[in-house]
Amino acid sequence: MRYFYDSHCHMMNLSHPNLTAIIKRIYNDNVKPKIKPLLLKYAKTFKMALVVFLFVIPAVVIMLLLTDQIKVIKLALYFISALLLGSFVMLYIKFGNTEKREKTLSQIQSSVLDKAKEKLGNVMNLLAIMETDIGDCLIQMEEDLRNNLPLNSSLVISGNGEKKEYEKIVLTPLIMDFGLKDSGKTNLTYKVRWKPIVAQVEDLFIGIRDYYRHRNDYVKGHPEPLFQIIPFMGINTKNYTMRAHGDNSGASMKLEDVLKDNFEEFGNDLTHQQRRKNIDAIQIKWKDFNGNIESIGSHCFLGIKVYPPLGFDPWPENSKEKDKVRHMYKYCVDNNIPITAHCSPGGFLVDKSYKEFSSPFKWESVLKEYRNLRLNLAHFGGVESEGWRRKIADMILEIDPKTGHYTYENFYTDISYQGVNKKSYHDLKAFLDTFEKTSRRRLVERIIFGTDFMINLQDISAYSAYLNYFFETDTLTLEEKDMLCNKNAERFLFLG
Ligand SMILES: [Zn+2]
Repeated sequence: MRYFYDSHCHMMNLSHPNLTAIIKRIYNDNVKPKIKPLLLKYAKTFKMALVVFLFVIPAVVIMLLLTDQIKVIKLALYFISALLLGSFVMLYIKFGNTEKREKTLSQIQSSVLDKAKEKLGNVMNLLAIMETDIGDCLIQMEEDLRNNLPLNSSLVISGNGEKKEYEKIVLTPLIMDFGLKDSGKTNLTYKVRWKPIVAQVEDLFIGIRDYYRHRNDYVKGHPEPLFQIIPFMGINTKNYTMRAHGDNSGASMKLEDVLKDNFEEFGNDLTHQQRRKNIDAIQIKWKDFNGNIESIGSHCFLGIKVYPPLGFDPWPENSKEKDKVRHMYKYCVDNNIPITAHCSPGGFLVDKSYKEFSSPFKWESVLKEYRNLRLNLAHFGGVESEGWRRKIADMILEIDPKTGHYTYENFYTDISYQGVNKKSYHDLKAFLDTFEKTSRRRLVERIIFGTDFMINLQDISAYSAYLNYFFETDTLTLEEKDMLCNKNAERFLFLG
């Protein structure tokens, strides 16, 4: 069976994320960068008014210093209103005749409104999919793909007169640990202090079950499910204690237990085939899932997701915190568990000081000690951060002088969210083309395809639209596309 992998997506409902973080994210990643240039464009027009105000303030201060009567304050107020009025008159004159003025004003209005409407449409779409049940979301994704892609018995990508076929799409929804013990600085009276991840896991599992149970009622004529769904467990080590620290109180979950409960039997998988077989064995059980997580056990998660913008520090200074991440990395190396980490300066950044936690420079310290760690630094460092992208490429290409081989054999990156427009694929090609042939080839072998659905709905209308950009771009050859969505993903996910 040939699989198409979307190795970076999310399935959540509105109760899972911290809503203040969602709103902050929509504002910082979307509203601000799009509305700000528009405002700047018209800022010149308002500059003159600003100059007038700058004259007003010192004038009032001087007047107040010179005399001490309330009368003066009154006078100052008259003075301010006169100047305000004056500046508006000046603006009015500046715009010249009525026609020009009307035109400029309606231009401002329509460009700001159009942008706002477009954004609002996307945000509504995102909220709608988050509001519906996760099972229904998966069914709607399949319906969308079947309606909008050339997809009969298999998914087909073509190029240079050839084609690649995929019988199933593997989705690896990444759970994010929103359980914020320390939710960052906020001006609000109340804040999110804890959010048990168990509830999120339960909802996701029930969603997966309901997809398998109910899809046949909606998707007619295709009895075989299109998706295979294998989630990643979200872990923020800060939210757990360690038995190794002598903490045996029942007050909070132990990190040792979380890893053991979910990945205990991973150590027994010695080959790619064994891991695949054990993962597939769980898949058959989904339809009968009774809602109790404990009934599932090892192999229902494929890996671990960490999310630095929510406070996970990959290499903390604090020794107890350091012990925890060390325990996790060692466990992952010993049992061959892949870790995907958010890696761009943005995201659900709940505190500015967490930005550096996502940095590839920070992760380098981790890899130096755990060089076999199976790690995917997502988003290729983020489009907005050329330096981080370069650093990831350097780490992929680093050669160990002792062995002459690549230093980090299990180190990957993904291009999730980037593909919300065609341009990003041109940028990717331009970046890859700056490397000579062997390095370029190595990089292409270490990049994984991902969508960042449903978060990516902030900038795109549908799952199928995102996949279509990838299928249609001519900046990657068919062979390269196949590496991103199949070979590399399989190597990263399954002990390659
Ligand atoms: Zn993501």
